[in-house]
Amino acid sequence: MQTKLRIAVQKSGRLQEESLALLRECGIRLEEGRDQLKVASRTFPLEVFYLRNSDIPQYVHDGIADLAILGENTVIEKEKELDLVMNLGFARCRLSIAVPKGTEYPGLQWLNGKHIATSYPNTLRGWLKQQNLSAEIHEIAGSVEIAPNIGLANAICDLVSSGNTLFMNGLEEKDVILESEAALYANKNLSPEAKTILDQLVFRIKSVLAAKNNRYLLMNAPNEALEAIIKILPGMKSPTVVPLAEAGWSSVHTVIAEDRFWEIIHQLKAAGAQGILIVPIQKMIV
Ligand code: AMP
Repeated sequence: MQTKLRIAVQKSGRLQEESLALLRECGIRLEEGRDQLKVASRTFPLEVFYLRNSDIPQYVHDGIADLAILGENTVIEKEKELDLVMNLGFARCRLSIAVPKGTEYPGLQWLNGKHIATSYPNTLRGWLKQQNLSAEIHEIAGSVEIAPNIGLANAICDLVSSGNTLFMNGLEEKDVILESEAALYANKNLSPEAKTILDQLVFRIKSVLAAKNNRYLLMNAPNEALEAIIKILPGMKSPTVVPLAEAGWSSVHTVIAEDRFWEIIHQLKAAGAQGILIVPIQKMIV
């Protein structure tokens, strides 16, 4: 029987949608049945297990699943040894200490002897130890941000992305304990067959992520402006330059990082570029 990789994905929660979208963009079509625990793909040797976020590190550690898409913070909290295969660039957040707005907080020492509410007791405990601080940890499963308001704790240690939830609950972020994003993890003892399939999956994911982070850039320019324009372009290799039907003009094509485009657009225009187009890339083989 052909080996299939078993990948654990959140049954519900913030990571689920983007995890499944990523698999889809990798050409992995899943059979219908999101309500089932286990769904196979017909287009790639993969089975998706929908599991509870906090249970996934254990399943991958024990080899019940070969792979998982998880927030780094979850793996750190569960203290399970897994192979980090690659970061995936979504679900970025940080685990932070926050206190009620207006609290006089001269620095970390303030936490000594205080009560801190969190759903991440292991990570917090490790950090407090590292910082030589002693505080009481109150483990709660959710709605951590209301703990100071109801007199349960002096501070919280929780995940923050926009900071909006903290703001709405009258809290101020003070110290970042750890930064996290979604990542692909693997069991440490994959069989050689499973590793071969994992390599194919990683190749596809890299192509999808590279395409997301880059844009195809086209522009027209008079030939005398080409030298200046090419100097401005931070392309993959040297740009492609092809003559236009109109004598003395060329079309310049290149690939640039999405976040560099706005930096250089004015320079390109000033150098003589016209009709600038920026086009999404479907897949980029790196
Ligand atoms: P869930 O609680 O199942 O919706 O998933 C929570 C996971 O989403 C966390 O473990 C983080 O990895 C990630 N995440 C990203 N941003 C946030 C945020 N602002 N609050 C909570 N979780 C976040």
